[in-house]
Amino acid sequence: MKKDKTMEKIVSLCKRRGYIFRSSEVYGGINSCYDYGPLGVELKKNIKELWWQAMVREREDIEGLDSSILMHPKIWEASGHVDNFTDPLVDCKQCKNRFREDELEKPKCPVCGGELTEARSFNLMFKTYMGPIEGDSNVVYLRPETAQGIYVNFLNVQLSARQKIPFGIAQIGKAFRNEITPGNFTFRTREFEQMEMQFFVHPSEDSKWMDHWKEQRMNWYYRLGLNKNKLKFHEHGKDELAHYAREAYDIMYEFSFGWKELEGVHNRTDFDLKRHEGHSGKKLSYFDDERKERYVPFIIETSAGCDRTILTVLADAYEEEEERTVLRLSPAVAPLKAVVLPLVNKDGMPEMARNIYDDIRKDMNTFFDSGGAIGRRYRRQDEIGTPFGITVDSQSLEDGTVTLRDRDSMEQERYQADNVKEVLIEKLRFKETGVKK
Ligand code: ATP
Repeated sequence: MKKDKTMEKIVSLCKRRGYIFRSSEVYGGINSCYDYGPLGVELKKNIKELWWQAMVREREDIEGLDSSILMHPKIWEASGHVDNFTDPLVDCKQCKNRFREDELEKPKCPVCGGELTEARSFNLMFKTYMGPIEGDSNVVYLRPETAQGIYVNFLNVQLSARQKIPFGIAQIGKAFRNEITPGNFTFRTREFEQMEMQFFVHPSEDSKWMDHWKEQRMNWYYRLGLNKNKLKFHEHGKDELAHYAREAYDIMYEFSFGWKELEGVHNRTDFDLKRHEGHSGKKLSYFDDERKERYVPFIIETSAGCDRTILTVLADAYEEEEERTVLRLSPAVAPLKAVVLPLVNKDGMPEMARNIYDDIRKDMNTFFDSGGAIGRRYRRQDEIGTPFGITVDSQSLEDGTVTLRDRDSMEQERYQADNVKEVLIEKLRFKETGVKK
C-alpha cells in the first residue's frame, strides 16, 4: 500500500511535541491504541468543551448524560448489534494479512496480490464477563457506541429534566470496536471517544429537524476553524442506509488519504425505542400535552468521533514552509494560547517575563520558555500551533514595552506590558472569529 507522507509527518510531529504517543510504546506498542500527551490532552479537552458548549450549554432543548460503558447485554440484542454489527472478514492465503472485504477494490490481496479466503462475518463488539465466572450467562460487551445509553435513559431524562418533545440528550464517552483494519493513525482505532446527541421529535417533524441538525453540525466544524473547501456532505444511497435509518448524511473531510467520514447525521426513526420496548417490556412512549397524543418519537442522531475530529484539526492546520513547520490551529482549539519569552535569561528579563506570564495564565493556558536561542523557541511554538508569543527584550527594561508576535504572519508589534493581555485577548478573538470588535 502507498505510504502517506503527510500523515507520517503529522504522526512524527505528534510524538516529538507531545500530542499523541503510541500506547504501551516501551513494550513495542499495541496495535491501534494511542495515548494523548500534554498537548494532546489539552486539545482534546478544548474540542470536547466546544462540542458541549454548542450542544448542551447554548441550548435549552438539550440535556447532558454520562451513561456507563457496561450495560445490560439485552441492550445489544435489541439494538441489533449482536446480530448485525459485523464486517465481512477475508484473509490472504499467502501473506496472512486480514481485510474488510467491503473495503477492497479488487477481490485479491492488496499487499501481495494473493488469493483471499471466503468472507466470514466478524462481530465488532468486544466481549467480556461480569463477575468471577466466565460463562455464557454473564457475557457483557464494551459498548460500541454511546447512543444506546441515551435511548434507555430517554424517559429518565425527559421526566427528571421536565423536557418536552422536541428535545435532545447529549453525551461524550468511550466506545470500543474490534475493527478488522484499524489505521491511518487515530482515524480508525479500536478504542475511541464519541460525541453523540440524540434528538427526539414528533414523527411528522423528522425532516425539518434533520435539516436543522445538518446545518448546525456543519457550522460546528467551521467554528473549529477547518477549511470549508475540505468539508462536504455525503448522502447515503439506498444500498448504504443502515437497517434503522430512513435518511442519512455523513459530514466528510478531505484528508491526504481521501474523503472520509467525520460524523453521521441520521434519521433513526422510532426503531431504537420500539426495539427497547419490545425487548424490555417497558413503555418508552411519550404523551404530548399539546397534541393530546401518545407516540414513540423519531430520533435524529448526530454522531461524531472526538479522536477523529482531533486528527482532522491537526491535519487541517499542518503546513510546511521553507523555514518552518507551522500548525495554524484556531485559538478555539490550540492547547496553548500564548508563550512568554525573555529574550535572554538575565538582566531582569526573566523576572519581568514571569510577571506577565503569571498574569496571563490566570485567563488562558500559557507557556513560559526561557531556554535556548529565541529563533528556535519561536519555531517550536509555531510547530505546536501557539498563536502568539510575547517577548521581553532589553527595550522592555527601558520603556516597559514588549513585543507581540503573530504565529501566522510572524510579524511583531510593541505594546505596553501593562496592556498586552488585553491586546492578546482581542487578537485571539479576531484570529478565531475573523470579526473585529
Ligand atoms: P465506518 O463505516 O467508517 O466504520 P461508521 O459509519 O460505523 O464508520 P458510526 O457508527 O456512524 O461510524 O460512528 C459515528 C462516528 O464515530 C464516526 O463518524 C467516527 O467519527 C467515529 N468512529 C466510528 N468508528 C471509529 C473508530 N474505529 N475509530 C475512531 N472513530 C470512530
